[in-house]
Amino acid sequence: MNVLTSAPAWAATRAGAVLTVNLDAIASNYRTLRKMCGDTACAAVVKADAYGLGAAQVAPALERAGAQEFFVAHVDEGIELRRYITPLCRITVLHGPRPAATRDCVRHSLRPVLNSPEQIEAWRQEAVHQGHPLDAVIQIDTGMSRFGLSPAQFRSLAEEPSLLAGIDVSLLMSHLACADAPRNEANIMQRQRMRDASALMPGLSVSLAASSGIFLGSDYHFSLVRPGAALYGIAPNAELAVNPLLPVLRLSARVLQIRTIGAGEGAGYGLTDRAQVPRRAAVVAIGYADGLTRHAAGEGCAWFGSTRLPILGRVSMDSVIVDISDVPEQALTQDMLVDLIGPHYGVDDAAQAAGTIGYEVLTSLGRRFHRDYIAS
Ligand SMILES: *Cc1c(COP(=O)(O)O)cnc(C)c1O
Repeated sequence: MNVLTSAPAWAATRAGAVLTVNLDAIASNYRTLRKMCGDTACAAVVKADAYGLGAAQVAPALERAGAQEFFVAHVDEGIELRRYITPLCRITVLHGPRPAATRDCVRHSLRPVLNSPEQIEAWRQEAVHQGHPLDAVIQIDTGMSRFGLSPAQFRSLAEEPSLLAGIDVSLLMSHLACADAPRNEANIMQRQRMRDASALMPGLSVSLAASSGIFLGSDYHFSLVRPGAALYGIAPNAELAVNPLLPVLRLSARVLQIRTIGAGEGAGYGLTDRAQVPRRAAVVAIGYADGLTRHAAGEGCAWFGSTRLPILGRVSMDSVIVDISDVPEQALTQDMLVDLIGPHYGVDDAAQAAGTIGYEVLTSLGRRFHRDYIAS
């Protein structure tokens, strides 16, 4: 059964909108990515509540699909994630701990990414306190100017092993700034800086690629890849003719009212949308408080089956008005649902219409939806 195109069984629920997350598709995307990487280990990035889709459901599904390495951004995300996956899994915290939180990392067996000399020193002191070596990742800034030691700082560290006494460095990592632009020369530069850094501490595992980096080719895979977005169906770059990842969600919202907007009448706040012809309009129970950004007005739309329903006027907090003039009268029903993200309109399409990226569409998904998780 392809749940993303089947008739919604949840149409009777009270919710204004329903988010259906297909855990089987997420698992399948994980396996697709892992296959692309051969012997390289494939982690799963589940920060920001698994990009808004629900870490409590998504992380166990990824573990069942074979993932054993998980990445989050914050210590608190790691502590919560520990409840959802087995102790066999390793959790790495991208931001690393603030000095006051090193003990919490140890207590919850979270591996920190150490991004600065200060974090390294705090972790070293924690190891002294614990009386045994502590596992950690060291991040090197290979060009993004965001997180990590500069190459010069890393060189000093490599030349002064006492700075790392008690720290068991299990991975060197960096992050690509332009991986979604395969021809951007910054990718080659960052890869070279990663290689140079790794030569200073030979024998350590290395990780450079997130989702888009995987698609730059095996030269970018090193020991471990860290996909997030691709697990959730976001296209790794705009140059692929076909996105090899499966869509994983559907967002449908209920029609609350159907009305006719007369010629010359506006719709919504500001009466911004006036047309000289009468239009049939549906008021739909989803708004910017649910993550349907106001920037979706204009290019954005909803869908009824394969019929495109342009957004009329501005998006309100709890509702949006869409033009249903193209939907045949007999197809209109009380309580009908329209798709904001669905089989005809993916996350990347919705993002493009709103002038943003799929990542932001996912992580903006609201908390008011009824959520259905599909798993075989
Ligand atoms: C968010 C993040 C990832 C995952 O990135 P995607 O593009 O979603 O695959 C990997 N590594 C780091 C350091 C990140 O911040």
